[in-house]
Amino acid sequence: MLEPHGQSVATARRRRAEPAPRPRVSRVLDARLAYARRADRADGLAHFRTRFVGADTDLVYFDGNSLGRPPIAAVEGVERFLREQWGGRLIRGWDESWLRLPLELGDRIGASVIGAKPGQTVVGDSTTVLLYKLMRAAVDGQRRRDPNRVEIVIGDDDFPTDRYLVEGIAAERGARVRWVPVDRSRGLTPELLAAAVGPRTALVVASHVSYRSAYLADAALLSRIAHDAGALVLWDLCHSAGSVPIEADAWGFDLAAGCTYKYLNGGPGSPAFAYVRDDLQPLLRQPIQGWFGSADQFAMGPGYRPEPDIRRFQSGTPPIVGMLAMVSTLEMIEDAGMAAVREKSVALTEFAIDLAEELLAPLGVTLGSPPDPAERGGHVLLHHDAMREVNARLWERDVIGDYRDPGGLRIGLAPLSTSFEEVHRGLTAVQTVLREVLAERAGLG
Ligand SMILES: *Cc1c(COP(=O)(O)O)cnc(C)c1O
Repeated sequence: MLEPHGQSVATARRRRAEPAPRPRVSRVLDARLAYARRADRADGLAHFRTRFVGADTDLVYFDGNSLGRPPIAAVEGVERFLREQWGGRLIRGWDESWLRLPLELGDRIGASVIGAKPGQTVVGDSTTVLLYKLMRAAVDGQRRRDPNRVEIVIGDDDFPTDRYLVEGIAAERGARVRWVPVDRSRGLTPELLAAAVGPRTALVVASHVSYRSAYLADAALLSRIAHDAGALVLWDLCHSAGSVPIEADAWGFDLAAGCTYKYLNGGPGSPAFAYVRDDLQPLLRQPIQGWFGSADQFAMGPGYRPEPDIRRFQSGTPPIVGMLAMVSTLEMIEDAGMAAVREKSVALTEFAIDLAEELLAPLGVTLGSPPDPAERGGHVLLHHDAMREVNARLWERDVIGDYRDPGGLRIGLAPLSTSFEEVHRGLTAVQTVLREVLAERAGLG
């Protein structure tokens, strides 16, 4: 049994029914491979995999949650844009279509990925910069409303950029950070948040899916807890956008930002998206006031007057070329629907955990992610103190996962581009390599 890291066996997940009587190990492997092939044949999203560059090779890609594969159509789309749009239209391209692109893409992300009505989502800067702008806007806005609201609440195991930003903004604005100590195999739970917020809380910053454990927060409940305490809430959607359904409007989000180069396959450094609830927009001012956020931009007036709407969260010229590749994935999600994407994502992580139980638990591997799929996003963390070495050797064999200190192998399973057979091939390789490393260690001992 793969013991959930840091949790009692009693909370372990209910296991898929085993074939009985229990077969020999080699037969188990065969049964799992047969299961993978059946699952691929039955997978209604399987055809999407053929639309990604490189998916037809033997490489195992367990990092689509860090940098998604390029869609084939995106390669063609970017080239066509460079030749026809940039090359043909030159500066005339800004007239309408390029200027509108950050807002049009934002609305498409809003509609198919994050559950937001039009006019609340814009694509623009990097995730870090957008998070900064939104955090600053929220902290300043709250301070204007109530000078006692000076605390930013965030989990102490949140993604580094989020923690560093909060630290910097607190120093810059004379605010205080309230670090919530979280269980690293989970994340910011409702109980922890409820105990941390109060009349001094200005802003809660939370990840919808933990980058480490994949813990899936109950975003509606956490938003309610923040609001009941009079705080605003900013959701980091980097590890959920394109993998887990999100209902920003229905769940009462105030602010959110997320990556587009992970599950949305926008390419390295593709610009992030920001969401600001419509009634908050006129109340909040972001700190990087540039001409793209100013009302009547081309009047080039003497002073800064922000747009009344989501455009005020823009700053400078948007990176148009960087926005093109994600369109191909948005088309796939618009076609498939996030419910189907999530269903496959759960099936993939369940299969990965089944395989890990069978193949890796006997070698001492434990689960660093929630065992219950209802509390887990699109990746799985596996712990063993040999994982750093194991991951380095896996890369040499074209099995590409992520190592996360201490001792974590992070397996990201992008639902549109990952097959069940790929999961099987990858976890079998983890077993082979881990055995090898352990045998060498034993030899040295
Ligand atoms: C990947 C990731 C980021 C990345 O920020 P960048 O500015 O794009 O480098 C931020 N937050 C979380 C939770 C992430 O997973």
